[in-house]
Amino acid sequence: MKAAVLEDVGIIAVREVPAPEAGPGEAVVKVTVAGICGSDLHGYASGMYEPGLIMGHEFAGVVSSVGPGVAGLKLGDRVTAHPILPCGACAYCAEGRVNLCDAMGTVGITHAGAFAEWIALPAANFRPIGELDFRRAAFTEPLSVVLHARRASGVAPSDGVLVVGGGTIGLLMADVLRLAGLSRVALAEPNAFRRGVAERRGSAAFDPTREEAGRFCERALGGAPTVVFECVGIPATIREAAQTVAKGGRVVVLGVATEPVEMDFLDAMYNEKSFQAVYSCTSEFDEALALLKGGALDPLPLATSEIPLSAIAGEGFGRLSGRHDEIKVLVHPD
Ligand SMILES: [Zn+2]
Ligand SMILES: [Zn+2]
Repeated sequence: MKAAVLEDVGIIAVREVPAPEAGPGEAVVKVTVAGICGSDLHGYASGMYEPGLIMGHEFAGVVSSVGPGVAGLKLGDRVTAHPILPCGACAYCAEGRVNLCDAMGTVGITHAGAFAEWIALPAANFRPIGELDFRRAAFTEPLSVVLHARRASGVAPSDGVLVVGGGTIGLLMADVLRLAGLSRVALAEPNAFRRGVAERRGSAAFDPTREEAGRFCERALGGAPTVVFECVGIPATIREAAQTVAKGGRVVVLGVATEPVEMDFLDAMYNEKSFQAVYSCTSEFDEALALLKGGALDPLPLATSEIPLSAIAGEGFGRLSGRHDEIKVLVHPD
């Protein structure tokens, strides 16, 4: 089959690899569509993943074969998949906190992902999507990440919130905050196209390179944000989130920070600011799928390009790494 293989730092190539087969308890899915995630871009650019990896964990497709011992999945089922492969035996798995599993595998990181014609995973990871279209279903994973962050934040409808970053995660974060009843949501994003999308979805968006975040929040929220969701992951934006949050407030970090971050903890201490880093999702995956099936929010306007697998290096990773007038690029393997 054809698959996009990470060959080295900043090098991804489509080549022929053996198609996966369904082992005991597994199913193979023909991938219909797979989204390129910000974390894939970090992995591509930073060298934090092993060469030879097939990335891609945001996808939907059709079951094409099932291995021995699989119940509840059959050929032709339309599915997406939870990205975490839990060991099922550790104390975290016992609590349902599979994203903290002591021996965790992850689709598209430790296990071959969905930038390929077929993907094999434990059948337990697949979730039926019913009539939901494949492209919307491919947003289940990023939506589950922001639902996990919302839960971890303890945010309340009365909070005035700043979301830092207007990529897929920042925009979906603002969406799920509004769904939770928050009416005061500001979003910091330097790119004008992304700000326009944020505004159309209901956020008060501003350019943090032109206006200081604290000043904008004063105007848009009526004061400093009580919760800041950092959805970029670079030291400057994490520091800005920490400086901008109100006294007694909380910074929730979703951005993938691949570099160490220098911080003024004296300010955090005097002002009792707290920090919560979050990773992936647990049961929020099923909540995200239910929200998409019910039409509570539509992620499709965030899909700014759709490309064939053969174009993943240039039009996919190459272009996304340099520009910000794309949000989500969807890859079609056929
Ligand atoms: Zn993702
Ligand atoms: Zn475990």
